Amino acid sequence: MSQAFRLFNTLTGKIEPLNLIEPNHLRFYSCGPTIYSYAHIGNFRSFLTADLVLRTARAIGWKTTYVTNITDVGHLTNDDTMDPSGEDRMAKALQSSEGTRFANVWDLSRFYSDALQSDWQQLNLLKPDVQPRATEHIREQIQTIEKLISIGAAYVTTSGVYFSVDRFSDYGKLSGNQASEALEQAVRDVVVDPEKKDPRDFALWKKDDQHLMQWYSPWGWGFPGWHIECSVMAQCYLGDEIDLHAGGEDLIFPHHECEIAQAEALTGRPFSRHWIHTRFLQVEGQKMAKRIGNFFTVRDLVIEKGVEPLAVRLALISGQYHKPFNFTFSTLRDCERHIKRIREAYDATKNANDLGRQDQSSLADALTEKQHLILNALLDDLNTPAAIAHALDGVRTILKNKDSLGRQAHEHMTEISNLLGIVPQAALPPSDGHVSNVRGSIPKAEDSQTEIIEQMIQKRSIARRERDFSKADKIRDQLLEMNIEIKDSANGTTWEHKSKI
Ligand code: AMP
Ligand code: ZN
Repeated sequence: MSQAFRLFNTLTGKIEPLNLIEPNHLRFYSCGPTIYSYAHIGNFRSFLTADLVLRTARAIGWKTTYVTNITDVGHLTNDDTMDPSGEDRMAKALQSSEGTRFANVWDLSRFYSDALQSDWQQLNLLKPDVQPRATEHIREQIQTIEKLISIGAAYVTTSGVYFSVDRFSDYGKLSGNQASEALEQAVRDVVVDPEKKDPRDFALWKKDDQHLMQWYSPWGWGFPGWHIECSVMAQCYLGDEIDLHAGGEDLIFPHHECEIAQAEALTGRPFSRHWIHTRFLQVEGQKMAKRIGNFFTVRDLVIEKGVEPLAVRLALISGQYHKPFNFTFSTLRDCERHIKRIREAYDATKNANDLGRQDQSSLADALTEKQHLILNALLDDLNTPAAIAHALDGVRTILKNKDSLGRQAHEHMTEISNLLGIVPQAALPPSDGHVSNVRGSIPKAEDSQTEIIEQMIQKRSIARRERDFSKADKIRDQLLEMNIEIKDSANGTTWEHKSKI
């Protein structure tokens, strides 16, 4: 019998043990980002919740199958209600000043998807088993919509295909938005299709032969609604019934409510047994907004401000996922100090372990006890504040006993690394002659960041060779925006990070 892993289930409103369909195998889907721009630290707070679930599940010996998608179709800003006057996020991004560097919307989505992978690695998130893209599952989405139409759960209008909420009596069971009157009220202003049978009905397919991304379907040219991609991809890789589905709190309604409707209308069985939602991150007590200057991406902090990536991770997980969380620079500075001490402790224990030393038994016992406390805290609804406090306690003990460390102390650091992902494993070797002030600790992340920069430099060289100087200058400006300075010489182009601190 494995240990109970308790999480707050939005579906029941209770903290409950995860009750797996197949013993010891967690099938888990978490909603990923729409890649019309860089993901911000709020998005990463939600992705980190999924990452901690995965680490905890593995620590108690569960097999895990983890799927998290990439939304690379530009849904409308009022997507749930199919408002034709809403703007497509990807199209809007392409027209923005940042977007002019991209050849088309596909180029834009590729760029931000690469950036996502790089940030993902910087913050030491585990690799998902599958990271499916909406655009690569259009066929499956069309097939599902066809099935929904055939059972009478969806219908076609002049402008698209809608899910018929009236045909699914459990609609509202996740969000509590059950009263159709209240729902109608909430969406009335933006419902414009006179052919909709019920104002609550949501779009499965949008007919649009002008859209930048369009596919041919039984209903003509167009593109899928947002909700259909997640339930389809979850079922595609995890089966009709899954154990756990996650996302940020804004996804409870309508996105997850609609996913349940689509999936369960087809199978007649529960789609996901558990649903967890991460409360929104605020920065210095306010909602993140570019206008107030408190909107941060991972690269704003890591590249521009030179913050240690694992300190960003530690700060983002320092609040429990389903409590409101206020991200502050004072917390971030504390986290940088903690990461420095964690690195020091790791180096000391690695040394002792390499020398084959044994711990003093009292030290070994104290550290074993702390390892249990960390895991128990995570099993208790991902109580990260408690888990981190125990981990830092262990680090303090290790640093106090530097002369009597051994295998157990090293195991303690490995355990913190596996469970919380906050241990810098090794100092980075200097990268092929480039000067860098990014104190990244995960070579892979550095590599992928370097790759992006070098690709841009290569594109600039090609532009210069082809005497397209305005393009070359644009790339130089983009690099400067990323805080990368380039120098041309007879031997080629070199680059370095500029630090602002
Ligand atoms: P999006 O790219 O808007 O679809 O968001 C990707 C994920 O990030 C979703 O699970 C959102 O719920 C989540 N998210 C968006 N903003 C925040 C925030 N400020 N704090 C926590 N999670 C967020
Ligand atoms: Zn989703």
